[in-house]
Amino acid sequence: MSVDFETAVFNSLPADKGLYMPTVLPQIDEEVMANWDKKSLPEIAFETAYALLKDDISAEDLKAIIDDAANFDAPLHQLEKDVFVLELFHGPSLAFKDFGGRFMSRIMAHFLKKEQKEIQILVATSGDTGGAVALGFLNVPGIKVTILYPKGKVSPIQELQLTTNGNNIQAIAIDGTFDDCQALVKKAFHDEELNEKLNLTSANSINISRLIPQMFYYANTYAKLKDQFDNLIFVTPSGNFGNIAAGMMAWKMGLPVSRFIAATNSNDIVPEFLETGIYKARPSVQTLANAMDVGDPSNFVRILDMFDNNLEQLKEMLTSYSYNDEEIKSAIDYVYKEKSYVVCPHTATGFLAVTSDKIAQKQQEKTAYVVLATAHPCKFPDVFKEMGIMIEEPEQVKDLYVKEKICLEMRNSFDEFKGHLVS
Ligand SMILES: *Cc1c(COP(=O)(O)O)cnc(C)c1O
Repeated sequence: MSVDFETAVFNSLPADKGLYMPTVLPQIDEEVMANWDKKSLPEIAFETAYALLKDDISAEDLKAIIDDAANFDAPLHQLEKDVFVLELFHGPSLAFKDFGGRFMSRIMAHFLKKEQKEIQILVATSGDTGGAVALGFLNVPGIKVTILYPKGKVSPIQELQLTTNGNNIQAIAIDGTFDDCQALVKKAFHDEELNEKLNLTSANSINISRLIPQMFYYANTYAKLKDQFDNLIFVTPSGNFGNIAAGMMAWKMGLPVSRFIAATNSNDIVPEFLETGIYKARPSVQTLANAMDVGDPSNFVRILDMFDNNLEQLKEMLTSYSYNDEEIKSAIDYVYKEKSYVVCPHTATGFLAVTSDKIAQKQQEKTAYVVLATAHPCKFPDVFKEMGIMIEEPEQVKDLYVKEKICLEMRNSFDEFKGHLVS
């Protein structure tokens, strides 16, 4: 069944347990793309999003939303003559999820204003999602946000990003694991009394309005490299496969990309699937790249859908490699010593995938690899401390230390959580 964009944004999940996808992925005009080398990221973002959303939002409103949401840069850092790192960590929470968080919040506010409605967002986080949602929704009118995180299990900077906002953002530290937090949120969404009293909405990463803005930086990178290279291979460190699904959507809309590589940690469900044709979901295992610890990547069905579930065709466009913690550490060490550059554990899997791919596949002339750097390394300090690598903290972080920390602590109890939401 198809619904309009607004419904997909607020429902997040369709009733049939699938995921929302645009019914058609319209083509971006080739002439439009030819001019992209003269355009800024927000301009390219607008031309990409407008192709998709022109029936749902006016050009003027969409442009204002994008100018406000995509207000930070996504620079390329050249590591080797044919290897670039796309730094997606210059937003408020220092991770690529800021693109999704900021765009989604403004899209929701846009529709809410029209309908004079207020909503409550509930979200469980293992670290990175919460920060992007908290900072993305901060002071956005009509929306209250409650974020549950496992007490003592997120990094110090992640915790500050969750707990120093105040205003319309509330953080609750649950005495339990991420899975406990997620279970509490799920239960709340299924609770009749809560749904009657509150207008509950999810900010889950499968929300289509978080996916769309993740196309922007693939398009912007193409614009920057198109005159220098004939073939682009994007390497995306992947967990729930939203980031790479967005890149593949942009390709489906006509963005010239040769191939995508999904780099994973030891949670190797997708590389295994591409090799064996068998998709075997399993409980996630804990790794150093913990934002990618996913045992059943939700967005992978969106990728399969774009290929009509044809494995052979999918394999022409998607390659995948997995790496364990030892390999991740040695890659961080190598890039630091040989390239004087620090990559976070997630980005390290991307760097490793370039190395593997250069051995496994024959490169065509004028091919560039672009590794998406998904987070700033300072968000994951433990591994660097252990390795003796010093990391300079950006301005956004220095501001956090002087802010007041406000956080509610709670047992892992649904009754307590519900009582709090109702009160
Ligand atoms: C969320 C996240 C990922 C995984 O992105 P998906 O879209 O879930 O594949 C990778 N790296 C970092 C730092 C993240 O926060």
